[in-house]
Amino acid sequence: QNALLSGIGTTIFTVMSALAMQHGAINLGQGFPDYDGPEDVIEAAAAALKDGRNQYPPLTGVPELRQAVATHNRRFYGLEVDPNAEVVVTSGATEAITACLMAVLNPGDECVLIEPLYDTYLPVVKLLGAVPKLVRLSPPDWALPRAELAAAFGPKTKAILFNTPMNPTGKVFTAAELAFIAELLQRHGAYAICDEVYEHLTFDGWKHIPLMTLPGMRERCMRVGSAGKTFSLTGWKVGYITCDRSLAPNVAKAHQNLTFTTAPNLQRGVAVGLMKEDAYFAGLSASLQAKRDRLAKGLAELGFGVLPAQGSYFITTDIRPLGFNGDDVAFCRALTEEAKVTAIPVTAFYASEGAPSHYARFAFCKGDAVLDEALARMRAWL
Ligand code: PMP
Ligand code: GLN
Repeated sequence: QNALLSGIGTTIFTVMSALAMQHGAINLGQGFPDYDGPEDVIEAAAAALKDGRNQYPPLTGVPELRQAVATHNRRFYGLEVDPNAEVVVTSGATEAITACLMAVLNPGDECVLIEPLYDTYLPVVKLLGAVPKLVRLSPPDWALPRAELAAAFGPKTKAILFNTPMNPTGKVFTAAELAFIAELLQRHGAYAICDEVYEHLTFDGWKHIPLMTLPGMRERCMRVGSAGKTFSLTGWKVGYITCDRSLAPNVAKAHQNLTFTTAPNLQRGVAVGLMKEDAYFAGLSASLQAKRDRLAKGLAELGFGVLPAQGSYFITTDIRPLGFNGDDVAFCRALTEEAKVTAIPVTAFYASEGAPSHYARFAFCKGDAVLDEALARMRAWL
């Protein structure tokens, strides 16, 4: 059997969701909304399903969705994208990220990753025989350590994979940080896989900037989006990659060998979603910002140290002020079993030694009454 896969455990999201179920806990762990996505998007998918759009669609995606991805890129970021040669639709961002890594990495190539990191990144880099180079952000501000990032790049660097807006930190990379990454990519002739699944979930006037929009980056970036996050439909698993026409053939060949195609009816629904009016996208971030504020205020009142979150579904909290006797893993377990509220220990997002072990991540993409009930349960427990 594959030693690498045998050596990793079941994903923390599944582990904590199972524990939540077992104890009847409110699940603020795994990041999924407890409300449905827009009705017109769901209706469009249902109509396509009933219309007999149920056989293999084109390998790179149905034309309507590829066109919608291209239009969305122009509308929000001023990017000119050829829908026939620069878009690949995948079965979720998870597949998209794997396909992009497969497209550029050869065994022995180095790939820069930023900790804390999403749990699928490292196993895939390693399975491809590439060598991960980890650079760690420091809480509580999660600023990019520039000297360390520059030191992680070298003659063998082929790519960087990073996430903005970022899970689990809620960090949105600044224009200056992106410019620094762009300069390193230029200098080393490297590519970027940009996990931008939370692109529409930014708060307090923070704007998401795709690295791809910076000078010289159009040919170097593979930009990944997800219908799961943009339309609150995480179970659909429809992702989309935007990349230069020089990269797209390899990305498409990776997709061809992973899943080949993605549910055509769902793709048609997502195409309708990406064409929705500006008010939809503004409303999505406004509603999540209000939920972030609701949970952040409540957690701060309970004594948690609440770290700032500029985007995503998540806030991270420092549990030290609570005086709990144990690390983040013990805390999240006790919180689930005793308070009946589930959070995710942030050490799960670290692969190297010496990770901070006093942070818990809470997802706020839940109904207000659910957030209030979770806070009430924690108040009674603490
Ligand atoms: N990247 C990040 C940072 C995520 O949080 C998620 C969440 N599921 C994904 C990728 C995967 O997205 P999808 O469900 O579209 O595969
Ligand atoms: N992205 C989601 C999170 O971070 C979970 C995805 C998953 O369950 N694999 O909570």
